[in-house]
Amino acid sequence: MSSRPEQERRVLINDATLIDGTGKEPLRNTSIAIQGDRIVAIRKAGEIGSFAHAKTIDASGKTVMPGMVESHFHMFLDTEYATGAQSDIDIARPAQWMILSAVRACAMALKCGYTSVVGAGSGHNIDFWVKQAVDKGIFSGPRIIPSSREITSTGGYTDWAPSWWPKVEGLGLVADGPLETLKAARKVMKDGAQIVKIYPSGDGGFIGNYHQYFHDCRREREVMTFDEIDSLAKEVKRWDRLSMAHCRNSTAVRNCLAAGINIINHSSYLTDECWQLYKEKPPLAVCPALGFVWHLNHQDWGNPEYQKAAAYEEEYASCVENMQKLNKIGIRIVPGGDYGQSDIPHGLYAKDLELFVKDCNFSPLETISMATKNGSYLMRMEKEIGTLELGKKADILILEGDPLQDITILQDRTKISMVMKDGKVVASKGKTLSSDWDMLDEDNFELLKRIINPGERAMVSL
Ligand SMILES: [Zn+2]
Repeated sequence: MSSRPEQERRVLINDATLIDGTGKEPLRNTSIAIQGDRIVAIRKAGEIGSFAHAKTIDASGKTVMPGMVESHFHMFLDTEYATGAQSDIDIARPAQWMILSAVRACAMALKCGYTSVVGAGSGHNIDFWVKQAVDKGIFSGPRIIPSSREITSTGGYTDWAPSWWPKVEGLGLVADGPLETLKAARKVMKDGAQIVKIYPSGDGGFIGNYHQYFHDCRREREVMTFDEIDSLAKEVKRWDRLSMAHCRNSTAVRNCLAAGINIINHSSYLTDECWQLYKEKPPLAVCPALGFVWHLNHQDWGNPEYQKAAAYEEEYASCVENMQKLNKIGIRIVPGGDYGQSDIPHGLYAKDLELFVKDCNFSPLETISMATKNGSYLMRMEKEIGTLELGKKADILILEGDPLQDITILQDRTKISMVMKDGKVVASKGKTLSSDWDMLDEDNFELLKRIINPGERAMVSL
């Protein structure tokens, strides 16, 4: 068995249709040469010349695109433990289980073609530790931008437990007043969070008294004051980290934009003042997390009165309209759908791309750029990943079929023939390959070739 140093590992993906993620029209009959973890050439098929010692993958009739970014990822959440009673997140679900869920969700992300994930709130600081394990090669997972526990106010979203219960600090971190929010930000950043997640608004599901212990944190409620948000946002900036906010009402959006919060989630309701601020102080990105609300609207809650009162159908329609307008004024929009919540399991991530195309009327090409290039900006890694260009990291998908004709093929794991991260193949057709799986391993390479080109003779040139 041959063995070549990591930096010399060479792969040639031959004769593909290339969607490079920049938004440019696809290039047909294109070959991509990879050396080590980088793209070293992109040319017309046959023009690469001699690329000695390269393993060649015949990708004719297939589409090649960048690995995707899931921009609202809760790796610690899973549907087994999410019963709909949100307090279960902290009370019933042990941290040990959350870690297992996180490892499984990371493997799922790779299988689905997501080579990068951005945390959007993390129980027990799990994002950070899972990232350490992936970076050390203990198991195979996506690139992770780790998020913090979720900062809220007393009685705000994620402070579910009644005050007479013993304090359980899993997901929510309570801070009241600007001094406490500043301290909470320092605390989570000290623990390794790159994204500091806050809850300036409530949510539709917490209307009235439908939950046994957690009352009246409806979406309209101003859970955090401007001063609380402002003091936190400035501290996060001083540490050169990123802030992310759950904003289901316009007051939250206004306060967060004015305070310079980097990532606005949802942005469902907007006033003229919000639109003005979007133009004057654009955030790094907006992530509507459409998947979560779409699924809520397509589930039977078993309580029609409650489902109607929660008004997620109205919210979805308003959010879709806002995304169309935000896109027009040049705000960077990213897909990422809050998967892992009750009855919305991990693995459905690419549903968000379908919703962008079918409901927001974005073109499939721009939607793919939102999931790749825009995601890389959110990760502040736009020079390294997000598009397939010379010198960039080889985070590459090979697809059976054309996602520009049918964006839903990205939801079908059996149509994702190859998921490459950092020049290494990490998953194929819905199966992950072990972390030490390497293109230099002849047996594994032959296996991959049979998966991608069934019935064809291997074209290995050594
Ligand atoms: Zn979320």
